Amino acid sequence: MTESKFPASRWQKCLVVGAQIRVVGIEARALVHEMGEAHGLRGEALSRLGETAIGALFLASTLKQDQRINLRVEGVQDMRRIAIVDADHEGRVRGYLIQRKLDQLANAPKISPIHNLGPWGEGLLTVLRTALMGADGSAEGPPYSGTVPLLTGYFPKDLTFYWHQSEQVPSALGIHVKTDPRNSGSLVAAGGFLVQGLPGADPEDLKWAQDRIESLSDFSSLVSEQQSPLEVLATLFHDRELSILEERELKFFCHCSHAKVEQAIRFLSLEELNSALEEDGKLEVRCDFCNKVYLLGEEAIRTAMESLSPKK
Ligand SMILES: [Zn+2]
Repeated sequence: MTESKFPASRWQKCLVVGAQIRVVGIEARALVHEMGEAHGLRGEALSRLGETAIGALFLASTLKQDQRINLRVEGVQDMRRIAIVDADHEGRVRGYLIQRKLDQLANAPKISPIHNLGPWGEGLLTVLRTALMGADGSAEGPPYSGTVPLLTGYFPKDLTFYWHQSEQVPSALGIHVKTDPRNSGSLVAAGGFLVQGLPGADPEDLKWAQDRIESLSDFSSLVSEQQSPLEVLATLFHDRELSILEERELKFFCHCSHAKVEQAIRFLSLEELNSALEEDGKLEVRCDFCNKVYLLGEEAIRTAMESLSPKK
């Protein structure tokens, strides 16, 4: 793990005093930098994974205790990209990005870049909300899933559309991830804001708050090395009182473990396990979400094979 030059990432959940409006600010430079280092991503790829991670955290900021969300964004533009991110109510997030040049795909569709769409191009955005397992192994409530098409190819706009369409929550969202092409695509800024109307919100108050967020046409210069999103938030709503409901540190966190990997290799075929055993007596398994490598030895492979062998 590399030492981050950025301050600890965090979210600030606020209420606009006297209005049924919640505002959330996220500062995520340290977090997105760490994800990029773990996956070896910079530049454009880091921007795409970073904005998805911040979006997942905004979704997670609305969760009840013991819930988590999985956000999947899949789009085709100059490349085919899939970002898969998990986040929970405690502000823990993990995720990865798969991208392929279109000509590397078998049966690649003949698509040239779609000029009026953003970097994600055409595709789908899916949110899955589930309950975490309780201590007794029980999960409360059924999972909820919603999918919307990518209308603009710009992630913040399409996630805003998801909230309107799938959850009927009026929202305005700004997310900004900036990398520096002159410094091999390393991270400069990462964060954003969310404004949402709660039940009973006065439409005029809501419109006023949304206009504030949407008036940030010069988002890039505001959210920069100099000013974090949390500072911008305070400036933006300087004439209204904000009461801070929660401030929490956000973490790049993966719950993979050696024991879980040992369980997971039971999904491999007997042939695959057997050839790993014969080739070098060990199996290397990489976790997609955090890129950590687990080495399983002969004993673990044999245990998995025994569980797969037909019972006599
Ligand atoms: Zn992991």
